[in-house]
Amino acid sequence: MLKTLVDSPAAFSRSRRIVTFFAVALLALSPVYAQSSPGPQPVPLPPPIVAPADKPYPGAVELVVDLTDNARRIASVHESIPVEGSTLTLLYPQWIPGNHSPTGPISKLGGLFVKANGKAIPWVRDRVNVFAFHIAVPEGVKSIDVDFQYLSPLKPNQGRIQISDEIADLSWNDVLMYPAGYFARDIPFSTTLKLPQGWKYATALTTASESGNTVHFKQTPLETLVDSPLYAGGHFKRVDLSSSPENKVYLDVVADAEEDLAITPDELAVHKKLVEEAAKLYASHHYDHYDFLLLLSNNVGGVGLEHHQSSEDGHPPDYFTNWPGGVLGRDLLGHEYTHSWNGKFRRPADLWTPNYNVPMQDDLLWVYEGMTQYWGNVLTARAGMRTPEETRDVFARVAANFDISPGRDWRPMIDTTNQPVISQRSPVSWVSWQRPEDYYTEGMLIWLDADTKIRELSGDKKSLDDFAKLFFGIDNGSYIVKTYTLDDVIATLNQVQPYDWAGFLRKRVYELAPETPEEGFVRGGYKLTYSDTAPGWLKAAQPGLPYEDFSTSLGMTVSKDGMLVNVWWDSPAFKAGVTPDMQLGAVDGHTYTPDLLRKTLLAAERTNTPIELLFKRGDTFKTITIDYHGGLRYPHLERVPGTPARLDAIFAPSGSPAGTQ
Ligand SMILES: [Zn+2]
Repeated sequence: MLKTLVDSPAAFSRSRRIVTFFAVALLALSPVYAQSSPGPQPVPLPPPIVAPADKPYPGAVELVVDLTDNARRIASVHESIPVEGSTLTLLYPQWIPGNHSPTGPISKLGGLFVKANGKAIPWVRDRVNVFAFHIAVPEGVKSIDVDFQYLSPLKPNQGRIQISDEIADLSWNDVLMYPAGYFARDIPFSTTLKLPQGWKYATALTTASESGNTVHFKQTPLETLVDSPLYAGGHFKRVDLSSSPENKVYLDVVADAEEDLAITPDELAVHKKLVEEAAKLYASHHYDHYDFLLLLSNNVGGVGLEHHQSSEDGHPPDYFTNWPGGVLGRDLLGHEYTHSWNGKFRRPADLWTPNYNVPMQDDLLWVYEGMTQYWGNVLTARAGMRTPEETRDVFARVAANFDISPGRDWRPMIDTTNQPVISQRSPVSWVSWQRPEDYYTEGMLIWLDADTKIRELSGDKKSLDDFAKLFFGIDNGSYIVKTYTLDDVIATLNQVQPYDWAGFLRKRVYELAPETPEEGFVRGGYKLTYSDTAPGWLKAAQPGLPYEDFSTSLGMTVSKDGMLVNVWWDSPAFKAGVTPDMQLGAVDGHTYTPDLLRKTLLAAERTNTPIELLFKRGDTFKTITIDYHGGLRYPHLERVPGTPARLDAIFAPSGSPAGTQ
């Protein structure tokens, strides 16, 4: 029922060529081992990894995952895999959807044993692709048993914590292997999960039966299983956010503690409104039911990860209990929900892959992520999860960061879409110069630019809302992935409002574009300005933020203990010799506190005296003077009188007097 198809396998043709190339290369590179010499037994030449084909797998894989050893953060896995023929290659998922990169946690795997009819069979890891395991299947064997453990991180330096005493965040791709040679949608999985006693769970999967702490799920294709993570824990609440009987949406909250589950009526109302606004914007849905898997935890690491019928949404434990403090990250649910339409239902053609071991190509992430970043923020505003002023401040912060980040001088935005493969989210030394993943935020501003351009050209009769309805609001109720290309995006823009959209996007996405992308503000009736006044929402958020932000003034962010987080390239701090590996100890001879530095910056506006900062770097101390007198420079958007207030219309709830929908 949830089997997905793809409308064009063109991307796969390219991917298949890559896989075939690697297979041939493996054969060419592998030494031929003598088969009968004495001494240590040689490792036999592994067969090539079979490229995936769109044909049914002969039988269903039975998968049992045991999470009852959550105290040791160990997930034990047993698989029973039907086999045909004499060889089998098992793949551990490498290219993870939503990560857009080869981030499958192969280093966390341990205790692999393969058996047939109770007898051990040797396995050989592929020497070129370490995610593949080759197995010679004994004659007459119809099924093999595979056991291993997923040894989840115990400390943050081992990776994101996924299991705690109270919570488990289970990505099925972490806890399974699957046979090579088939599309993921063609391999059925019958899945069983054993949970710690008393835990509840949420997932987009359908439960077939439950017995005690054991859950059996309805058989699904591997593709649906991997796309349907499960959150479980002792403190759990499920809230109905459905906008109609046809559009079933739930908020499944898993928390460190019971008190974190408290939701006020106002908070519930804006979450429901988010679902309503999305239904109006996209005029469709592409799920049976949708589950926001909301993790409120300090102990388990949160992610924002999209899926077709659910999303993983990590927030601090006080998401509900300190609502005013959470303005900054509040677009997460709108962003991940939007991905059900953009990224899952509609997917860039060369990002679609037949299984999890074929490389992805990320060149359209500025649409997949950039437009999602735009709609996520717009829906958050329309739902009332942020006020219009808070929304404008958030957009201003994004543009202000481009004002002080010169990476756009050398790196066109399109090149940043390679970053998930280049660095897989590992930190870089000079973020404003390397600009690792600007396709999110720069993409967001480009789509605001496009939205206001459509509004201007059409006399405010059309907008990017019309694009959303045409592009995403098709095949209502269908899960069948419909891929898109750049030409499809341009054609739909032209359908909404004829214009040189190819030239518009070429200039902004594919060519060097060093200027701050703020045309959307100008056309929206606002301009980017700076002041010494921190917005109220930022003051409320500051105690929960991991650093103090002096990026738009001195050009650095500083953690609570004075450790620098980032230094902006070419900023006053950079030019004075400050580097991101320093610790700020004193300001003008007094121990550093964020308040002291703020007061010093304000006072320096009225003098010509340089600011004197004492830094520690390794075991040496260094005094650095910065001749800066520009104040605190909090970014804002200021209304330009006499111009159309298109930004107000974009952020207003649908159907309201200010809104244009
Ligand atoms: Zn995203």
